[in-house]
Amino acid sequence: MKIIVAVKRVVDYNVKVRVKSDHSGVETANIKMSMNPFDEIAIEEAVRLKEKGVASEIIAVSCGVAQCQETLRTALAIGADRAILVECSELLQPLAVAKLLKALVAREQPGLIILGKQAIDDDCNQTGQMLAALANLPQVTFASKLDIADGMATVSREVDGGSETLQVTLPAVVTADLRLNEPRYVTLPNIMKAKKKPLEILKPADLGVDVTPRLKTLRVSEPPVRSAGMLVPDVATLVAKLRTQAKVI
Ligand code: AMP
Repeated sequence: MKIIVAVKRVVDYNVKVRVKSDHSGVETANIKMSMNPFDEIAIEEAVRLKEKGVASEIIAVSCGVAQCQETLRTALAIGADRAILVECSELLQPLAVAKLLKALVAREQPGLIILGKQAIDDDCNQTGQMLAALANLPQVTFASKLDIADGMATVSREVDGGSETLQVTLPAVVTADLRLNEPRYVTLPNIMKAKKKPLEILKPADLGVDVTPRLKTLRVSEPPVRSAGMLVPDVATLVAKLRTQAKVI
């Protein structure tokens, strides 16, 4: 069984993001970029399935600028067998990525497609769901446990007040939540091996997909700065201030 894993290049989670001066988006020039953390979990899960003998090949896919090749090399170092970059310089919205992934699913015929539950830059949480709808595949989102047997995926997902277990027939789309696994550290020998693994570069037109944005961002702004707190000398003053000044926001 082949597995496709979608990996997005995002601003590293340790970076404090800054809004561009023209308010058109966030600053990404000269900033550390990394693989979306949920996509690392998705790749790790695919590699574990290959180690168990369930999967035969893992294909990592990224859509975006040429530098996404670095993200794909990381996926190859974690254990993917080959990579595909759908290269384009436009900012891709979830619908465009879902259409590109759908075209690759039609080409590669995987048994399973794993995505992260959401990208930490846009927090959209849409691509997996849109892909499943467009490709007419069953989907389970926010997976925290995944078992594959007899052409079925049994997936646990955390829901309010507990855990829900769903079973879907393969091929299916699964999106990875935080507790699915703990990704391994990438070792130097695997980074070296990853350099020799195949990485194919396509354009959206090669897949017959129009990636023109459908949504327009009007303005991006920083959250309001919190006003400073104050120290009070004693409990009586505190109670008085709570009575007269405290507001429920
Ligand atoms: P989102 O819907 O934007 O929150 O993204 C959810 C998931 O879709 C991510 O965790 C990735 O697995 C996948 N994804 C989104 N955008 C891209 C992209 N440009 N390239 C590859 N995968 C992506």
